[in-house]
Amino acid sequence: MKKLKLPKLHNQILAALLLGAIFGSIFSINKNKLVITYKADNNIKKEIVKGWNQFCFVIPNKVDAVCFGSNQQQEIISYNSKLKREGKTANVFVSGAKLIEGNSNNFSRLYTNVVSISKEGTIATDIKWIGDIFIRLLSMLAIPLVFASLTVGAASLGDIKKFARIGGKTISYYLITTAVAITIGLVLANIVKPGERMSSETKNRMISAYTEDASSKISDLGSYNINQQIVNIIPKNPIKAFADGDMLQIIFFSIFLGLILSLISNEKASPLIKFFDGLSDSMIKMVDIIMIIAPIGVFALISATVGEFGFDILQTLIWYAAVVIVGLLIHTFGFYSFLLKMFSKIRIFTFFKGIRRAQAIAFSTSSSAATLPVNMECCQENLGISKSITSFVLPLGATINMDGTALYQGVASVFIAQVFGIELNIMQQLTIIITATFASIGTAPVPGVGIIMLVIILKSVGIPEEGIALIMGVDRILDMARTITNVTGDAAGAVIIASSEKEIIHPDLSNA
Ligand code: ASP
Repeated sequence: MKKLKLPKLHNQILAALLLGAIFGSIFSINKNKLVITYKADNNIKKEIVKGWNQFCFVIPNKVDAVCFGSNQQQEIISYNSKLKREGKTANVFVSGAKLIEGNSNNFSRLYTNVVSISKEGTIATDIKWIGDIFIRLLSMLAIPLVFASLTVGAASLGDIKKFARIGGKTISYYLITTAVAITIGLVLANIVKPGERMSSETKNRMISAYTEDASSKISDLGSYNINQQIVNIIPKNPIKAFADGDMLQIIFFSIFLGLILSLISNEKASPLIKFFDGLSDSMIKMVDIIMIIAPIGVFALISATVGEFGFDILQTLIWYAAVVIVGLLIHTFGFYSFLLKMFSKIRIFTFFKGIRRAQAIAFSTSSSAATLPVNMECCQENLGISKSITSFVLPLGATINMDGTALYQGVASVFIAQVFGIELNIMQQLTIIITATFASIGTAPVPGVGIIMLVIILKSVGIPEEGIALIMGVDRILDMARTITNVTGDAAGAVIIASSEKEIIHPDLSNA
């Protein structure tokens, strides 16, 4: 009997991506349905309403009701969470709707003691937990892997001189490519002027739908002080840094420890180095095992995201989204290819083929940290980069190098300024380049942090930070795209630095 041959893992992952997107679009959340949970007779009850004409919040002791029309699902949910945050319990009056469970048409009803208002999940969003298992498995490895591999990486550089040389190259590469990324974003946004193409109707809709989410993101940032951020790189207690997953602190401690290991006696250092080396290898091996379920995880993640957010939101902000995506494509396929051609001997095709698995995982998890183990494996096994370079350059890059995020922040700042009718002069645009370059260092490699750091950039040039409400609807989808650029930039950096140190066995040359 002929044995059934499964396609290769990366093809399975790509197929899962595509199928997940199709599945999510078919079973997407109905934008005209809401689940109302309310308290009645000391019981919690749920009712699904569909296709309302009017959805009003009646707040006790307030004369005017706040009403929303049909097609304002997001606005209704946001407004309800605002009331919750303010500790108010509203009554809700729905009119002209169809009640799903009782199946009555055109009913009107007052719900008192509303506990929550939410979208109704579908099979595409209900399977999200499977994707969450996959992200958790990868994230579980990130911290021990960064700790073990950076410590070995720093120790194996051997001496402080080599460390300073490689460290200097790495940081310079990361800062320069980030500055180029923002510049691409700024130039494109100034040419296309996406903000001027947005209708005032869309502007008002986005602001009323996302103001609540925006203010909670702004308050997440708290007070941001650059000196304090620098001080915070040094952990008071490394164990706390591990427990909190504070990557910059972990990096600081690991590199310091690695360097010290090359200064103490070999007899004492070598068991520790062997231990960390074994730990780092075990983490990489775990990735192999976890990747077996990658197609299922990727399918679930993409289907849940597309099912919940849909690609149609991109249409509302089509010019903005297009500028971000075109910018990311230019940077990822144009600029990195140019750098690789200039500073390495690798074939561009080999490079992108070698890291395609990491790119697919970045897209589906939106997390550079969760992708780090996969990226390390791709760089070592497919691109032939030495372990000492990957273990130093990649964990550092995953944390401090975010070209995709920076590019998007450049576009977003100009876009928001244009919508508010603010002209940004050259000095302000330069300030954006500098602030975004440094902000990207402090951006945690997890989903959705880029938009929080954007608040700092907007503040630096006096653009109203509430403007992030305008772009929140598409942020989830663009986060997926910018994370691909973030991890590609790390891998390109590893190739370039390894080439300059002759620590790469070129896959093309070795196959030849
Ligand atoms: N999700 C991005 C990353 O992990 C960060 C961001 O842009 O929000 O690389």
